[in-house]
Amino acid sequence: MKINEDYKIVIIGAGTAGLSAAIYAQRAGQDIIILDGKGYGGQIGSTDRVENYPGIASVSGFDFATGLYEQAKSLGAKIKFSAVKSVEPTDTGFDVVTDRVIYKTAAVIIATGLEKRKLNLDKEEILTGKGVSYCATCDGAFYKGKNVAVVGGGNTALEDALFLSEYCTNVYLVHRRDEYRGEQTYIDEIANRDNIIQLKSYIPVEIEGTDRVEGFKVKNLKDDSVKTLDVSGVFAAVGQVPSNDIFKGLVELDSAGYVVAGEDCLTSTKGIFVAGDCRTKEVRQLVTAAADGAVAGIAAAKYVRNR
Ligand code: NAP
Repeated sequence: MKINEDYKIVIIGAGTAGLSAAIYAQRAGQDIIILDGKGYGGQIGSTDRVENYPGIASVSGFDFATGLYEQAKSLGAKIKFSAVKSVEPTDTGFDVVTDRVIYKTAAVIIATGLEKRKLNLDKEEILTGKGVSYCATCDGAFYKGKNVAVVGGGNTALEDALFLSEYCTNVYLVHRRDEYRGEQTYIDEIANRDNIIQLKSYIPVEIEGTDRVEGFKVKNLKDDSVKTLDVSGVFAAVGQVPSNDIFKGLVELDSAGYVVAGEDCLTSTKGIFVAGDCRTKEVRQLVTAAADGAVAGIAAAKYVRNR
């Protein structure tokens, strides 16, 4: 039997967008709760350093996220670490359903962010946490003195390779094309690190090992040759995807699964707002997630006041 709790606004997601929305909605006098099944911080919580947030020259991702979390709580925002199972329209607003509680609310802000894209290899799932990782900052220290592989060619992969090269004996950087997608400064830095071995035009083929990662088979796309890298860690950094399946039929999603909305953060459904990386947008950065949080928080508070 589930219990009911009443709030004016329920925010789904305790990353930068959700916590920023909480700060603005709470300051606008609304009674709110933030729900997140994974804890607070979202992507930024596991980022090594943030150096592109205006006004803050350099801060660890964890400290940035914790600052936001404490700020939202100090203003009176409630946070529960429960996963949302569904959102159902009612006569008075919406029921936000978790395992044990139904949160009855007038408005919802979706701020679910993105989750890491998988490599889609056999054994990837069973070896996750046993050599397969999606977070170099979280797990890198376990690989001190060992060989690892990083897959990807974007800023995350380049940053991960540089970060891991501080701890590991050798870092194989496996990228499917000849050119990286990430920033030139990282590319230049990588070229100067003797222990980063760049494998361009290579794709992952197989993760080897039973209880732990014991090797990583990769294929050269130019000559179809296959080699096995002697690594004990495989770090996947191949981008992110939205996880908005529970909102299908509730709000419009685009073909990739992003919630369709403009800079006003309004979804196709009255009373439901969206903020941050999980919506359709051009620039997905920390500062735009925070900005979305402000826009959605203020819009939701206004909606609740005027209804
Ligand atoms: P991303 O830019 O989307 O890069 C993903 C990389 O993975 C691409 O190089 C892609 O190859 C490769 N890839 C995708 N699917 C693959 C697959 N199935 N197998 C092998 N390789 C695959 O993702 P990201 O690096 O996580 O960055 C996401 C966003 O955050 C970007 O806008 C990025 O600039 C930003 N970011 C910024 C910073 C910073 O400012 N310091 C740090 C980290 C991230 P292709 O290149 O061939 O498509």
